Parts: sequence; structure tokens; C-alpha cells
Amino acid sequence: MPIGIDLGGTKIAGIRMADDGCVLSENRIATPKNDYRATLDAIVELVTSLDGGEDMPIGIGTPGACVPGLQIMQNCNSEWLNGKRLLPDLETRLGKRVRMANDADCFALSEAHFGAGRGYTSVFGVILGTGVGGGFVVEGRLLSGPNALTGEWGHTPLPYFRQRSREAFREDEHVNELLDALECALSPRTCYCGRLNCIETFLSGPGLARTHESLWGDARTPEELAAALDDEARKTFDLYCHMLARSLAQVVNIVDPHVIVLGGGLSKIDRLYPRLSDLIARYTFSGRCKTPILAPVGGDASGVRGAAWVWLDA
Ligand SMILES: [Zn+2]
Repeated sequence: MPIGIDLGGTKIAGIRMADDGCVLSENRIATPKNDYRATLDAIVELVTSLDGGEDMPIGIGTPGACVPGLQIMQNCNSEWLNGKRLLPDLETRLGKRVRMANDADCFALSEAHFGAGRGYTSVFGVILGTGVGGGFVVEGRLLSGPNALTGEWGHTPLPYFRQRSREAFREDEHVNELLDALECALSPRTCYCGRLNCIETFLSGPGLARTHESLWGDARTPEELAAALDDEARKTFDLYCHMLARSLAQVVNIVDPHVIVLGGGLSKIDRLYPRLSDLIARYTFSGRCKTPILAPVGGDASGVRGAAWVWLDA
């Protein structure tokens, strides 16, 4: 009966889960920003509130990943975790073994076992939230490699970023001239990871809001944009869908998952789904995309269930 903790959201979420995946109890606690020690304290407090003094295995979903061999954190958008020995520090504080996985991997695991990806041979789980990440589950197991980077499509450059010249793309039959003109008006973006024009800087919630503000001088939250039906918001949203389709087409070209499940705050936008497969098809090698693009079943609880499953999976 494991405990799952998810550090990936605006709050730290925790559950106690039965071995069959049922959530027995849950709790949330505010994420202490920019304070590593307070983050450790918050996790210990959350675990204590859930385990009731019993000795339960702990699975933790984190942003970024633990560098294989070195046990230090890397690539966290909660940057105060980077370079810290989170896993050994938690094991010392809790006095028990802890297993850790990337939060997007936890989401993918959860949707593959309990959610929209159930029954599919391979599941690419996508996070479109404050950051952009992903995890790839094949036959129920997370695919992982020597760099602990599987699924990190968010930190590669946005494909076909039409930043400079519309002329260069005139011959491209896939280009929508209006959207192309909008995209050319956007400036290059620096990512927190230090690279330029990462997919995350365009497809995260803050990226979507920034695109809208750059184009129209109008500051709105991603939630407001998702609900808005005015012409400007619609154009921003169209451009977003095309950028997302181009980016996911690269995933389809490389690993060709049997299903893609969207997660994170932006996955709640219903009108994302009906057109996405068709848009992706424009950019795949074959010009087709039979891959279903599905909304998550587990909602906000998906990541934390996956974190608990990390332990059962072992
Ligand atoms: Zn980046």
C-alpha cells in the first residue's frame, strides 16, 4: 500500500493508494517556493499525515530528474531543486527507501494503467501546463534511458518556427498564410534551461499567454484565453494548435505511440481535441495520423497516482 507524492503542481499533492490503484486518502500542501529545506519539511509533513505511523513505501514524482549515478536533481523548472540530493535527503529525513520519477512519467504511468491509455500497447503522456513534458509507457512500463531524458520533447526547438521570413515558407503547402504572418511577428524566446525557442516557451500555459500578449498587446491568463471566443483569442488559439501539432508530429515520427494522452492545465481545453489528429497528419512523414489524442481520465490526481505506482511497478 504505497504513498504517492507529486511535486509537479502549484501544490504538493499526496495520496495513500491501495495496491489495486484505489485512492484511500489524500492531502495537499502549498509548495514552498525557492526554499529547498522548506520543501523537504513539507514533503515529510505530507507523508506523516498520510502514513498514520505505518511503514509504507513512498513514490515521488518530481519536476526534472535525478541524474543517474550522481543522485542530484537536474532540469527542474522548480529551479531551487536543481543540484540538490533530493532522493538521499528524503530517505534520511523519512528513514525509509524512496523511489522517484519525473512527474510527466508519473502522469503517463497513471493514464496507462488507470486512465485514457488503458488497453493501448504504448502511451505517450504529455504535460501541457506551467511546463511542457512527457513520458512514454510501453506495455505498462516506463521507457527510460541512460540520460533520464525520455519524453522531454518540451526542450527541443519548436519545429518550423517561422520567425524570419515568410518568403522562405511560401512554397510550403502546409503553411496557413494568416497564421504564418502571426508567427513571424513573434520574437525569439529564451527558455529557463538556457536554450532558445524551446517548445515549452510556446506551448506551456505561460507560453500561450505570452504569444497572445505579443500579438495583440492584451494580457490574459491561459484560462481566460481558452474560454474566449473573440477573433483575436481565436487566432492565438489556432496558432497554438498548429504549433502543438507540428511538435507532436515529431513525436509520432520517432516513437509512433498507440495513443497520446494530454495532461496539465491546458488539457482541459475541450476544443483542442477534435482537430489535433488532422493537424498532426500535415506534419508526419506519411501525411497520416491515426493516433488517438485523448483527454486524461485521472485529471489532477493522475500524477500523484503514477507516483505511487512507481513503487508497485518496481
Ligand atoms: Zn528549454
